[in-house]
Amino acid sequence: MPDLSESPLTAGDRHLSVAEARAAIGAVLQPITTAEVVPLPAALGRVLAESVVSPIDVPAHDNSAMDGYAFDGAALQDHGPTRLRVAGTVYAGAPHAGRTGAGACLRIMTGAVMPPGLDTVVPHELCRVEGGDVVVEPGVIRPGENRRRRGEDLRHGTPALQAGRLLTPADLGLVASLGLQQVAVRRRLRVALFSTGDELRSPGQPLDAGCVYDSNRSSLAAALQRLGLTVVDLGLVPDDPAALEATLRQAMHDADVVLTSGGVSMGDADHTRAVLARLGEVAFWKVAMRPGRPFAFGPLRREAGAAPSWLFALPGNPVAALVTFYAFAREALLLLAGASPRPLPTLQARCTTAIRKRPGRTEFQRAIVEPAPEGGWQVRLTGSQGAGVLRSMSEANALLVLRHEQGSVAAGEPVDVWLFDGLV
Ligand code: AMP
Ligand code: MG
Repeated sequence: MPDLSESPLTAGDRHLSVAEARAAIGAVLQPITTAEVVPLPAALGRVLAESVVSPIDVPAHDNSAMDGYAFDGAALQDHGPTRLRVAGTVYAGAPHAGRTGAGACLRIMTGAVMPPGLDTVVPHELCRVEGGDVVVEPGVIRPGENRRRRGEDLRHGTPALQAGRLLTPADLGLVASLGLQQVAVRRRLRVALFSTGDELRSPGQPLDAGCVYDSNRSSLAAALQRLGLTVVDLGLVPDDPAALEATLRQAMHDADVVLTSGGVSMGDADHTRAVLARLGEVAFWKVAMRPGRPFAFGPLRREAGAAPSWLFALPGNPVAALVTFYAFAREALLLLAGASPRPLPTLQARCTTAIRKRPGRTEFQRAIVEPAPEGGWQVRLTGSQGAGVLRSMSEANALLVLRHEQGSVAAGEPVDVWLFDGLV
């Protein structure tokens, strides 16, 4: 079990800032280590387990960067035009074997191997053809130009991609360019997901009096899928300690992470706390943020020697659940999955309206970022900012983030935004 004695997890009743909470979570997590080999087409979005070392030089041969004429750069005249007889053509994929005589050149295609003895390519547009000769004016080109050197992109034996990368389309292309058909990736992180609350009903069920449909499981499962994780859906759990304990035991057995929503606010915290105290070292945090203050995090104990399963217990309000997911769980899950996540890209946009805020907590407001008429980006809030109003989140394309120490914002001031593109 990780040692949490020095961690703000044990900070008692103090309010943690969002940054402290993130740092405390990041400090105790141990990434999964199991790897598996997958064919390249199945590797998109997976976490690279071992650095990919190039087994070849890329490019594998000196080759032409242009369509034009290849010749020996030593033939270039300083004070008058250089005339070169066109002695043949070289195509990509069909290397030219013979030597080219002095005063001659070869028509060459982009990517074709540089013929022996020739080191320079003059592009079509920088020369003219007269009779069977190419004429190059002085100063147009220097010896050695427009030749791509063997190993210029990557030398044999050097790392092309570092372990921990989340593989992108360009990465898959790069791996293919090395002639590799498969890569070693970490196994997918397994996340058990359930919602708590007597009042919750699943879509498709009748909506009994006083009940609401469970939206968190849909939004959180989708957010987990976007991160490339395996979701184990454990459904709905009533506000009953025995049911909660049974589901938690199954969840921690089944998965590396247990993600729940609801049941950690004041009304429910006591019975949840008692159950969790039996299963691990989960801390209830008061995070200085809005929305999403109640939040619990910590390790659930599994059999001796096994890594813990990590509980992220998010608040039940649908907006708060997603905001706390992005603020805390997203990066933590990527870390656990073995990735080296970069911080969420933060864009600066001009806020079209004034927003009241007091320093001392981080606020996440649902917002629409759009191009400003005067250039750059502007951001406006979507309607009601209530923590339960999921529509405000669905209409938004970004979260407007008012930092911990920040005070009220005047209309026209720049603010931080997290774009949902690539996030949700
Ligand atoms: P809780 O955090 O359990 O106190 O829930 C706070 C509010 O969020 C209550 O109004 C709940 O009905 C609502 N809520 C909790 N869980 C969900 C869920 N899975 N889907 C939709 N609303 C929820
Ligand atoms: Mg509840």
